Amino acid sequence: MPGNPNEIKLVNNAMSNATRRNIMNFLSSGDKSTEEIGGKVGKTMLDFHLKLLQQASLIEIEEGAVKLSEYGKNFLKDKEEKGTDKTADLSKVKPVEVTEVRQLLPCIADSSKFRVIANMAPPLGGALKVLEPLFPRGRYSDKINALIIQKGEVITTVYGAGKVTMTMIKNEGEAREALDNLRSTINEAIAKGVAPAPREKVRVEPMELYKYLPQTNCGKCGDQSCYTFAIKLMSGEASLDKCTPLTEPKYALNQEHLQVLTAYI
Ligand code: SF4
Repeated sequence: MPGNPNEIKLVNNAMSNATRRNIMNFLSSGDKSTEEIGGKVGKTMLDFHLKLLQQASLIEIEEGAVKLSEYGKNFLKDKEEKGTDKTADLSKVKPVEVTEVRQLLPCIADSSKFRVIANMAPPLGGALKVLEPLFPRGRYSDKINALIIQKGEVITTVYGAGKVTMTMIKNEGEAREALDNLRSTINEAIAKGVAPAPREKVRVEPMELYKYLPQTNCGKCGDQSCYTFAIKLMSGEASLDKCTPLTEPKYALNQEHLQVLTAYI
């Protein structure tokens, strides 16, 4: 059973990818053949995904049959229990208002667009997690207590403490309209309950990741160029922490956006 830091890292890496999480959830209903798993999650890089799950001791593979290991079963059970604890109830949540648009700054990835920072009050706190199904491309991140919503090239991040950021916005008018739509969607859910939107599969391209990397080709990650590193991020061969320049304060926002984008891979 994984216990030391390296083993825990293997588990975290294995579970950082949506396809691998889907495989784990699929296996929770019983053992499956690799064909059945390929039919469910797609055959692209299936061997690679299974290998990472196996290396992390989450699954066992025997003669084409794949099953959850004891550790894998406990891991899922533990996650489920934690998730249940964190689910908030919307009945005590008050309608929100966008109180101010604090800043309109040139966007990191495209200086012809803007990054908007606004405030939403009262803060939604833990209720954000419950709101995730409202958005076809919404994802709640426990790590930063934020709901991340992708619509076209605009990424909106609503933080539990009330801050809202939006990237790739054309002008203040578009920002105010998008914030108003967000407020209405949330308030409607507070009034009527959450009706899940049909989920969309979000496709992240290497170029999108590249836009937020430092683009210095310094080689500290072990790759010759930032674009090669972006391709490896896509395939799961690299993780964001290998790009150490991203921890410099000037790249803090880039890192935030890359964490958002890689959550969709
Ligand atoms: S460490 Fe980061 S900045 Fe340097 S080459 Fe790799 S991805 Fe690019």
